Amino acid sequence: MNRPWISASRNLFLRTTARQCSLTRARLTVQFRRNLTQSVVRPISFKGIFRSSNEEKRQVLLEQDNLFHVLSKSPLPEMRDRASMIKKYGTCPVCESEGHKNKPTYDCPDCGYPTHCCEEHHHQGREAHKEVCSVLRQVNEDDHDLRSGRSMKEFEFPSAQGFDEAVNMANWDVFFYTRSFPSMDSDRSIRHVSKLLTYPITIASVLHQATPYKYGEQITAEGMRSIAALKTVLYPTNQLNNDAQAQVRTETVNIYLLGARAEATLPSHIWLQLAYLFPSTPFHIHFVGPDALAPNQEPHTTSVNERLFFTYDNALYEDYHEKIEKFDPYTDLFFMFSPGIGHFKEGWKPSIEKLLETKCPIFITGYDESDMDNDIKAVEQDYQFDWILKPTVNEYRSLKRDVNLMDVRQTILANYGIWGIRGKRYDVVHDPEANE
Ligand SMILES: [Zn+2]
Ligand SMILES: [Zn+2]
Repeated sequence: MNRPWISASRNLFLRTTARQCSLTRARLTVQFRRNLTQSVVRPISFKGIFRSSNEEKRQVLLEQDNLFHVLSKSPLPEMRDRASMIKKYGTCPVCESEGHKNKPTYDCPDCGYPTHCCEEHHHQGREAHKEVCSVLRQVNEDDHDLRSGRSMKEFEFPSAQGFDEAVNMANWDVFFYTRSFPSMDSDRSIRHVSKLLTYPITIASVLHQATPYKYGEQITAEGMRSIAALKTVLYPTNQLNNDAQAQVRTETVNIYLLGARAEATLPSHIWLQLAYLFPSTPFHIHFVGPDALAPNQEPHTTSVNERLFFTYDNALYEDYHEKIEKFDPYTDLFFMFSPGIGHFKEGWKPSIEKLLETKCPIFITGYDESDMDNDIKAVEQDYQFDWILKPTVNEYRSLKRDVNLMDVRQTILANYGIWGIRGKRYDVVHDPEANE
C-alpha cells in the first residue's frame, strides 16, 4: 500500500506563512533567541561540507599541519563569521560573575575562540576555562580540517550489505567495522562521519534487530510491541520462515521527521545508509517543518531509487499531518531531533497531540542531559502516554562537539540521548459485574 504523493499545497503554505508572521513580538524574540541557540547547537544546514561533482578538483586550502587558527584571523571566512557572532552575542564569564556584562572580544591563544573581554580577565578566568579550552581547541581543528579542501576519504561510504554479512549495531566502532567503512582510521574521521550519520543511524538503531537497546532495560513491554509491529514490515522474510502461508508485507515504512533542520540538507547518500540496513523495505522520509526547505524552495517529493523517497515540506507539522490519509503503527513512526519541547511547549502542542492519537512510535533526542530532561518534564506534565524506550544515552550520538556561540562554555553532542513514547492505549476493560 503506497501512499499517494503529497502534492505541495500552495494554500496551506500561504496560511502557514501568514500564521508565522502573526506571532507576537515577544514570541518572535523568544523564537529568535531559540533559533540562534538551536542553529548553533543544531546547525540549519550541512551544505558546503560536500563538494559537488563539478568542483571535483577543489583546491587544498589548509595542510594537515596547519589546522589551528585563531577564529577571528582564520583564512576561512566561515570561521571568522563564527568569531564575530560570539563577540556580538557572548558575555565575558569573569565580568558576568562580577555582575556586569562585557562582550568577549579577547581571543584565547590556546583554543582560538573569543572567550573574555580582555587579557587580564582571560588570565583571571584561566582555571574555569581550562577544561572547555581543550574541547574548543579540538573543535577548532576539526572545523578547519572539514573545510581544508583535502580529499575526504572518510566520506566514501559502503553500499549495500551482502545478505550473509551480519551488521553489529552495538556502537559506532563495530558498526563501522561490520559495515566495512573505509578509512575510519583516526578519531577525527570518526567524529566527522558520526556528525552526519547520527541522523539515519540513530533511526536505524531503534528499528534494527541488532539494536543496542535491550528489552527490560531500555525497551519497555509496550516498546517491544511497537517495534514488533514495525518488524513485520522491516523483516518480511522472518515471517515467511515462521509461517509459509503468511503474506509478505512489502509496504513502505514512513518516517516523519518533525521540525527537520540540518537533517533535511544531508545528501541522499547519507540517508541511503539507513536503507542499506533494511534491504527488503522501501522507506519514505518526510522532512517537515519551517526549516525543512531553503526560503526559495517549494515543497516537493523526490526519490533516490525505488526504495528511498523523500518529501520536503516547510509546513508546520500539525498542518502536514492533516494531509496524510491514515497512520498505521505497522508502517509509520515519528522522530523529533532535539525539538526543544520544554522551551516551546505551546508551539509543539497541536503536533504532539496528533502524534499521540496515531499510536505510532515517537522517538525524541536531546543534545545533553538537561535538554532531554526539559523535554521529558514538559511531555510528562501535559500528555498521557506510554513509554516505549526509557531515556538513555544514544549509542549513535554525534561524537563531534558543537559550540553554542552565545556561550562558548556550553558544548553539546547532537542526539546525545534518546527516548521513545506512544499514545496511551485504552484497552476495553472487562467488567466482571456486567456478566453476573
Ligand atoms: Zn571581562
Ligand atoms: Zn581557550
